[in-house]
Amino acid sequence: LRKLCVVTGASSGLGLNAAATLAKTGRHFIVMACRDVEKGKRAAKEMGMPEGSYTVMKLELANLQSVRDFVANLKAFKSARPLTNLICNAAVYLPTDPEPAWTDDGFEMTMGVNHLGHFLLVNLLLKDMQKAKNPRVCIVGSITGNTNTVGGGLVYPRADLGDLSGLAAGAKKPIAMADGKPFFGAKAYKDSKICNMMTVSQLHERYHESTGVTFSSMYPGCIAETALFREKRPWFRKAFPWFMKYVTGGYVGMEEAGERLAQVIDDPQCNKSNVYWSWNGGAQQVGRWSPDGKPRGAGGSGGEIFENEQSEAVRDPVVAQKMWDTSVKAVGLT
Ligand code: NDP
Repeated sequence: LRKLCVVTGASSGLGLNAAATLAKTGRHFIVMACRDVEKGKRAAKEMGMPEGSYTVMKLELANLQSVRDFVANLKAFKSARPLTNLICNAAVYLPTDPEPAWTDDGFEMTMGVNHLGHFLLVNLLLKDMQKAKNPRVCIVGSITGNTNTVGGGLVYPRADLGDLSGLAAGAKKPIAMADGKPFFGAKAYKDSKICNMMTVSQLHERYHESTGVTFSSMYPGCIAETALFREKRPWFRKAFPWFMKYVTGGYVGMEEAGERLAQVIDDPQCNKSNVYWSWNGGAQQVGRWSPDGKPRGAGGSGGEIFENEQSEAVRDPVVAQKMWDTSVKAVGLT
């Protein structure tokens, strides 16, 4: 029997490519959790995902009731089979909006979708996952989480959850930022990604031993061509992939990025909890993992998976604990 794997945001970019890679191994049955079910179905067809290797289910992360409904629908769909793998991948990035957008529950959109929706989802699914063999949860992180890179440490604005007073006060309109300060879209994205990565370490501490679930985060490289950058101006969307390819070397194509995310779920060597996975070197390198076990790519060296260092901000246990407690309250888990 194939292992059940939920992928959020599987209608585009990284999530779609990871879903397709896992589906094609024949080892996984993919539940594509999408806000737009029709788009998800179209995308799966275009990617050539084999019939019978997936289904598309509605999940609107900007609505906590939709998260709860998804969990109920999943339970009904899969009957007695436990969920083995969960990939929290969906995200929005709203760097140019002058004013915050709000989720149906009144959270600022970036924090609401990227962090709080996923936070509720993982917590609701955990009990069921511990019944599975070798269950894994991966929450997609960001370069923001490591200070040992240009993108993470130096590029303004930096992620900073401050005293978390915004989240502690419930994080609802008009509170737009985790630190309670005025709205700043680019920073809201980074803050949400820090919360994603802290959630992984908190999940590990709280539940790894008791549930046997492996929790991890990963940074796929800069996939400069995905729809994530839809708000950016045309010149930026043209220049950015070039810049990442030839100047920083951090560029990775969508297909390879998808394989990287799939690797974290499927590769036996990734069966270690509380790791933030990253990959050496550029794309298309010799020795890179492939789902069928055959070496991929040509030329160069590197492209190997490694356990990356997390930034001090991500590793701060006091902030991480407060982030957890305030998120529990914000999504109504108490
Ligand atoms: P895309 O915009 O291509 O994909 C984002 C996905 O999230 C889409 O499927 C989108 O649905 C879905 N989504 C957005 N809002 C919601 C919502 N409210 N409810 C449910 N689903 C939603 O971006 P990427 O593939 O680039 O991003 C995927 C992940 O990778 C994100 O976590 C991002 O932070 C991370 N990442 C990306 C990098 C990059 O360089 N691109 C670098 C590092 C990390 P729809 O198709 O309907 O829009």
